[in-house]
Amino acid sequence: MKIAVIGGGVAGLSTAYYIQKNFSAQVDIYEKSSDIGGLAGVFKLGNTLIEKYYHHVFTHDKYLMELISELELEDSLMWIKTKMGYYCKGKSYPFATPIDIMMFKPLSFMDRIKLGMSSLIISRHKYNDELENITAEQYLIKYAGKEGWDKFWKPMMKIKFGENFNKIPAVWIWERIVQRVRSRTKGAKDEVLGYMQGSFYTLLKRLADEAEKKGGKIHLNSEVQEIIVENGVCRGIRVNNEVKNYDYVVFTPALQHFVDVCKNAPEDYIAPLRVVKYDCSMIVVMVLKEKLSDFYWLNVADDEIPYGGLIEHTNFIPKEVYGGKVIVYFSKYLNVNSEYLKMSDEEVKNNYIKHLRKIYPDFKEDIIEDCLIFKDRYAQPIWPMNYSKIKPKYKTPIKNLYMANTSQIYPNDRGINFSIKLGKEVVESMAGEILNK
Ligand SMILES: Cc1cc2nc3c(=O)[nH]c(=O)nc-3n(C[C@H](O)[C@H](O)[C@H](O)COP(=O)(O)OP(=O)(O)OC[C@H]3O[C@@H](n4cnc5c(N)ncnc54)[C@H](O)[C@@H]3O)c2cc1C
Repeated sequence: MKIAVIGGGVAGLSTAYYIQKNFSAQVDIYEKSSDIGGLAGVFKLGNTLIEKYYHHVFTHDKYLMELISELELEDSLMWIKTKMGYYCKGKSYPFATPIDIMMFKPLSFMDRIKLGMSSLIISRHKYNDELENITAEQYLIKYAGKEGWDKFWKPMMKIKFGENFNKIPAVWIWERIVQRVRSRTKGAKDEVLGYMQGSFYTLLKRLADEAEKKGGKIHLNSEVQEIIVENGVCRGIRVNNEVKNYDYVVFTPALQHFVDVCKNAPEDYIAPLRVVKYDCSMIVVMVLKEKLSDFYWLNVADDEIPYGGLIEHTNFIPKEVYGGKVIVYFSKYLNVNSEYLKMSDEEVKNNYIKHLRKIYPDFKEDIIEDCLIFKDRYAQPIWPMNYSKIKPKYKTPIKNLYMANTSQIYPNDRGINFSIKLGKEVVESMAGEILNK
């Protein structure tokens, strides 16, 4: 049996792993870029690998923990306590614990209590249809109050969803709060974040090695141009202008790519999928001689500053790992038409530095050793209201064609853990068909 997996990101590599774990099959992975990893991909900084986009994981990431344990990579996983902050109105505030919330001066005392209580109240809610029918804005105003929304939640939603901050269904924020509150009450009072020795590439590379050990092949620089469908049955793919036949095909890149490459999919299946839009990510990585602060993660709630988060990676993982260099990510999600995507790298850099001086007035440009900019067109799905009614299933209406991508993790937040879940579940959904063949 031959199976093609399209996409060499976490979902594609996990899909290959679970296929080979459960069935005897020849698995070929097709990845359009020159390396595996997708959004969790890495670049080389000196002799060390580091993610293009800041990454950490949580203790409640159960699919990741399960996979790490199966691959006996537990010793590579580190758990680290970090400092979180919140910048607004010219000042940075620690923002990690209930005490930090109580000390958060931009809100009145009563609004601080309301904000603190809102997470607890929301975390006790059970899933219900209303969560799909109202926006996160309406939901958060109801529980955290107008001030709590304006001064805390609205900037946070803007950081994650850019201009779409007020269009996201409430179920997304509900699910996120439930996960975070549970992870704190289960474990210690302080939240710890996880990272892997050698970056998350350690996991990706192990998955790729496992696939090859079991006879699989990883084809890099191989963009799948078409999924071949004849009379409602998937026959294979066209890649590098060559047709390759497969018994099954699993598609893992973003939904928009599916619409592009699966031209013979039935229109009544494709039409609702076009509703899901994706925001782009533009992440600036500065390599510095000196640290900016003690915060690992500083949320930047200021509409004039063009980035929503400053992630000082070397306040998480010691700078010695990177030859003594300080690494700072500037996070930004953008609409595809954003002016920032039209700027040259130099313009972006200068603009970012100008605004960095608002947060750190003493910042001196001569501490910058390097500045890199990474962009991805399909970084963050923007789900419409009531999305669960149109969310695509793993099994598509085309026989022998399956889909497992970031559009299907809803209402969970996109992440490594849930891309592993996609891989595991798509293989479970294939099992009946494969075993009966
Ligand atoms: C800025 C940022 C920060 C993040 N931080 C975290 C974090 O802290 N923790 C966390 O857990 N997650 C984080 N994530 C999310 C995480 O990286 C993703 O959820 C996960 O990597 C998605 O994996 P995937 O395989 O589902 O999709 P992708 O990574 O998008 O993989 C799809 C792959 O398909 C390939 N492809 C596309 N079209 C084709 C084609 N036609 N033919 C062949 N190949 C194709 C792409 O090149 C890509 O490699 C972050 C993401 C971003 C953007």
